[in-house]
Formats: sequence, structure tokens, C-alpha cells
Amino acid sequence: MPTAPLTAVVIGGGQAGLATGFYLRRSGLVPGQDFVIIDAAAEPGGAWARMWPTLRTFSPTQYSSLPGWMMPPWPHGGYPLASHVVDYLTRYEERYQLAVRRSVAARAVTRSVGGVVVGTDAGDLFAEHVISATGTWSRPFVPTYPGTFAGRQLHTADYRRAADLAGQRVLIVGGGNSAAQILAEVSSVAETTWVTLRPPRFLPDDVDGRALFEIATKRHQARLRGQADTGGVGGLGDIVMVESVRDARNRDVLHARRPFTHLIDHGVRWDDGTDSPYDTIIWCTGFRPALGHLTSLGLRAPNGLIPTDGTQALKEPRLHLIGYGDWTGPASATLIGAGRTARDLVRELYPPRGPRLPTTVGTSPPRPPTQRGGLGF
Ligand code: FAD
Repeated sequence: MPTAPLTAVVIGGGQAGLATGFYLRRSGLVPGQDFVIIDAAAEPGGAWARMWPTLRTFSPTQYSSLPGWMMPPWPHGGYPLASHVVDYLTRYEERYQLAVRRSVAARAVTRSVGGVVVGTDAGDLFAEHVISATGTWSRPFVPTYPGTFAGRQLHTADYRRAADLAGQRVLIVGGGNSAAQILAEVSSVAETTWVTLRPPRFLPDDVDGRALFEIATKRHQARLRGQADTGGVGGLGDIVMVESVRDARNRDVLHARRPFTHLIDHGVRWDDGTDSPYDTIIWCTGFRPALGHLTSLGLRAPNGLIPTDGTQALKEPRLHLIGYGDWTGPASATLIGAGRTARDLVRELYPPRGPRLPTTVGTSPPRPPTQRGGLGF
């Protein structure tokens, strides 16, 4: 590899990649020069840009901020729409001049003398460290059931609007906030059945997503004190009573039954042997980490994850992972948790050197121009 390595390549410019960029920049590294953030998507916003337009966050704006700059209040009251988060992330990366290189996908990360090579569809990048922040959105998970269903099947990732399902018989599978919000709106235009593994748990109306983050904060503080982990934020699995879900409760549609045993041609079979017909099944059954670009490193455990100590891969110290889930840091895959994990990650990697850089206005510190990181950009 002929050129000097970059200090780091961050793969993924969603909230986790941007929070990491913020702390890399604050530690004295120059975006686009010492480190680069690449993102496969053409537009900013990470997964938020692909969610259905009526999605409400389950976290209020003051609990949805990345480091340095608070998410602006949502002017219409209640919980913000996904578009508000996209707007915030777009402005965040501009504000800190994080120079995200878009429409550049990492294909394979490989080891090299003195660093790692990130092979992309726009050439190779050579770096001392690689930070993977590719999220989960591109890997929707659907559980396997015996039998086949000939009707339409959607995942949360495919869902756009209730009107597309008007007049249909729709089965919604999943017990989290996505399922509850999709059920709430689809049930206003279609005949719905809700299936969850266990009875869904609804937060009281006056308790919002803050409860989840307070638990995450306690975990974080316990970890800093070296105490035992108290369990994942996702373990709560509680449904926040956003307006649409409260409306669904008022219409008496928030009833869930336990899963079916088989898929059949035009419906499902329940464990009592009865069948129910459906036109569409919506699987709100979660996502898995998008780690395909790291397969080449051979680090995956049988559960499909890469074992880490904090964010650092146990068997490859030049690889860090952020986002994805609690295994990379408490609430690492939430807006507020991404910032904490990013701070810890960058502190471990690059203790601050020299004076702190301004982070409120996006002026890059002066540095001699260098040609770093290899080909293609
Ligand atoms: P992403 O946002 O998915 O960003 C990853 C980026 O990596 C993407 O831009 C993608 O283009 C890029 N990428 C992927 N693969 C490659 C590759 N090979 N090469 C280059 N780039 C690549 N959290 C909250 O805090 N509050 C909420 O209310 C909330 N609601 C949610 C509702 C839903 C329906 C879902 C699914 C999640 C919600 N979350 C919420 C959780 C969380 O905030 C999101 O999942 C978040 O998008 C994760 O951020 P990320 O940066 O880790 O991943």
C-alpha cells in the first residue's frame, strides 16, 4: 500500500458514525484528511431516512440528541416524526463538517501490514483503524415458520403507508414499538390481528421513552464503576403510548394473541388447529447487524456477532463497532446512547492531543494538505 494510512475509516454515516466523527474531530483529527466517513446511501439520515413517513420516535427530542448540539424541539407537540430526525442528522453533519463520502459502500475489510484495508466500490482505503457503524436496517429479520404463505409479506423495512392495505385482512407480527405503531394506523383502514410472543407491555401514558434511557444511563454508570451489568435497554421492550397508539387503544384494537404454528396458503394455522385467512402479513420482527463487509476478517461467533470488549473486537484490536445493539455499549443503537459509546470509543483510541478544536462552528483546523488513504477519492 503506497500511501500513509488514514488514522481511521468510519463505515456508515448514520447517527453512530456521525457521533464518532464528532469525537474524532474533537480529538484533533481532520475530517476527510485524517479520517473519513463513508456511507453507501446517497442521502444523509441513516436508517431514519428509510423509515415510514408517519413513524414517531419513542424518545422526546431532549432525549434524542447527539453530542455537541441538541436536537431542536419538535414544534408540533408530542413525539417528532422520522423526518425531524433526518433533518437533525443532515444539519449535524454539516455543522461539524464531517465530510461524509456518500454513495460509497464498504465491500470487504482485510488486514494489511500496518493497518487495515477497506475495500469499497470506489477503491481501497488504508487506515490504522476501522470503525464499523453500518446499523441493522439493511438486514431485516423474519422468523421461520413451517409452511408457505401465498399472500403478500412485508417487513417493517418495507412498510410505507396504511392506505396501501385498505380493506384487507392483515396480520401484524411483533411486540415492540414498530408493531404497535403500524398496527395503530393499519387498523384504522383494515381488519387486523396482532401476534406477539408474550403479552405486550405498554408504558403508562405519562411515562415516555425517557424511562428506557434512564435505565440505559444507570447501566452506563454501573459499568463505569465496574459493577455488574444490569441488562439491556431493549430488554424492557415496552411500548410508548404515542398518540396513534393511544387512539388505537381507544378503538379497542390493542389485543394481541400468541403466535400461530404454521403458515398456510392464504393465512395461518393456530395451535388449536383452526385457520385464519389473511391477505398480508407484516413482520415487525426486528433486524440483525449488517456485518457482511467484515466477513473477510473471520471474527464472527456462532451467534453471528463479533465478540467485543466495549467497542473493540476481541480478536482484531484495529476494529471497533458502534451502534447495532447493547453488545457494543449500553443503548448504543439509540440516538442518545450512540454519543456515549462514541465518546468512550474515541477516548480509548485517541486521547486528546493539543488544544480542543471548536466544535460549534465547522472550521477545520489548519493542516498541511496530504494525500492519504489510497485510491479512489
Ligand atoms: P443506521 O442509522 O442504520 O446507519 C447506518 C449507515 O451505514 C446507513 O446510512 C447505511 O447507508 C450505512 N451503511 C450500511 N452498510 C454500509 C456499507 N457496507 N458501506 C458503507 N455504508 C454502509 N432510537 C431512538 O433513540 N429513539 C427512537 O425513537 C427510535 N425509534 C426507532 C424506530 C424504529 C422503527 C427503528 C427501526 C429504530 C428506532 N430507534 C430509535 C433505534 C435507532 O436510533 C436506529 O436504529 C438508528 O438508526 C441506528 O443508527 P446507526 O447509525 O447505528 O445505524
